[in-house]
Amino acid sequence: MDFHLSDEQRAIQDLARTFAREELIPGCAAFDRLADGEDAFPWDLVERGSKLGFNALAIPTKYGGAGANVLTQCLVMEELSAGDPAVSKVYSHNWKALFGLMAIASEEQVLRVIPDFIEDPRYCLGIAMTEPNSGSDNSLPYAGDTKSGPMLSAVRDGDHYVLNGLKKFIAMGKQAKMLTVFGRTDKSVPWTEGTSAFLLFPPKEGFEIGRLHDKVGLRLYPQFDLLFDNVRIPVEDRLGEEGTVHASRRNITNIGTLEATSTALGIARHAYELAVEYAKERVQGGKPIIEHHAIGTLLLEMFTRLEASRTLLWRSACSIDNGGDDDPKLARATKVMAVETLNYIASHAVEVWGGMGVMKEAPMEKIYRDAIQLYHMGATNQLNILKALPLL
Ligand SMILES: Cc1cc2nc3c(=O)[nH]c(=O)nc-3n(C[C@H](O)[C@H](O)[C@H](O)COP(=O)(O)OP(=O)(O)OC[C@H]3O[C@@H](n4cnc5c(N)ncnc54)[C@H](O)[C@@H]3O)c2cc1C
Repeated sequence: MDFHLSDEQRAIQDLARTFAREELIPGCAAFDRLADGEDAFPWDLVERGSKLGFNALAIPTKYGGAGANVLTQCLVMEELSAGDPAVSKVYSHNWKALFGLMAIASEEQVLRVIPDFIEDPRYCLGIAMTEPNSGSDNSLPYAGDTKSGPMLSAVRDGDHYVLNGLKKFIAMGKQAKMLTVFGRTDKSVPWTEGTSAFLLFPPKEGFEIGRLHDKVGLRLYPQFDLLFDNVRIPVEDRLGEEGTVHASRRNITNIGTLEATSTALGIARHAYELAVEYAKERVQGGKPIIEHHAIGTLLLEMFTRLEASRTLLWRSACSIDNGGDDDPKLARATKVMAVETLNYIASHAVEVWGGMGVMKEAPMEKIYRDAIQLYHMGATNQLNILKALPLL
C-alpha cells in the first residue's frame, strides 16, 4: 500500500486542520457548557465548515459534489474531530446518511435531496431507526425473530403509508431537513423482511420532535425522540420495494463504521497531542515530567496505538476505495481497535495532566467526556465483534 497522499488530499487535510484549530477548538468550548436547547447547536460553525466544503465533500461529482473518496473523507473527519468531534459528526453523519440514501433510493428520490443539500450550508439529515426497544437488534437481527427490530408501524392506506410510533436517540432529529424513517410494513415476518424506509421532509402533520437527550459528551451533536401520530407519507416516498430495505442497506455498512472510526481517531490524536505538550511543560521532580520514564513510556504507548489505528483505518478506507472492500470484517475490527485506542489514550491523557485533567477550565475533561460516546456509535463494540465473528 502506498501511504503517500496526493496534493489535493493534503490541501483539504490542511484546510480542515486550520479550521479545527482556529475556529472549532475556540468556538466549541463555550457551546459545550450551555444547557441543552436549540441555541446549543453551533449553526454558524456548521455553516462556515459547509462553505469550506466539508458537508458535501464526498458527494459524487455527477451530483455536483466534490467526489472525495473514502480515504479523503476519513482524513478530513480526523482533522475536524481533533477540533470538535460533535461538529465533525454533523458532517460525517450527513455523509453516512447520504450514502445510505443513495444505496436504497431511486435516482429521482436522490435528486430531491442532493441539490438542496449542496446549496444549503445548514442542510442536515436524519436517520430514524432506533426505538425504545430496538437498539442493537437493528444491527444484529436474529433469524426468524418477529418480535425484535423496529416496531413503528407503516400501514398502507391507498396511495399513502400511515406511520405511528416512537423513535429514540435520533441524531439531529430536530435540525434535519430530511429524515430516512424505518417502519414496519409487515409484523408477521422478521424485521429484516418486513421493514421499509421512507423519506420524511418536516414539518409534517402528526410528526413531532420529542425530548432532547442530555449527554455528557459530543454535546453539540444532539439526539431527539421523534413522535409519529398518523403521519401520512406518499407511496412514492418509500425507498425501494416494500420490505427490502435491510437487504439493500448491507453494502453501506462499512462507510458508517469508518465514519465512527475517523471520529475516534481525531479525538484520540487531540488527547495525545495535549498530553505530550503538557508533559513537556509540567515540571515535577526537577525536570519536565516527559523525562520521567513512567510518563515517557506511557506517551510512546499512546503514539504506537494511535499510529496502528490510523494505519488500519487507511487500509480499510483504501480497501473500499479500490472497489474491493476485500475483507468485510476489516472495517469492524478497525472501529473496535480505534475506540479502544481512543479510550486508552483519553483516560491516560487525563492522568498525565494530573489534577488539571479533571478541571473544567482545562481541555482534557471534555475530551474524556467525548471519548466514551464512541463505544456505541457505528454500533457498539460488542456488536461489531459479533458481526465480524462469522466472517473469520
Ligand atoms: C450519540 C448517539 C447518536 C445516535 N444516533 C442515532 C441516529 O442518528 N439514529 C438512530 O436510529 N439511532 C441512533 N442512536 C442509537 C444507537 O444506534 C443505539 O444506542 C445503539 O444501536 C445501541 O442500542 P441501545 O442503546 O438500545 O443499546 P442495547 O442494544 O440495549 O445494548 C446494551 C448493551 O448490550 C449489548 N448487546 C446488545 N445486544 C447484544 C447481543 N446480541 N450480544 C451481546 N451483547 C449485546 C450492547 O453491545 C451494549 O453493550 C444514537 C445513539 C447515541 C448515543
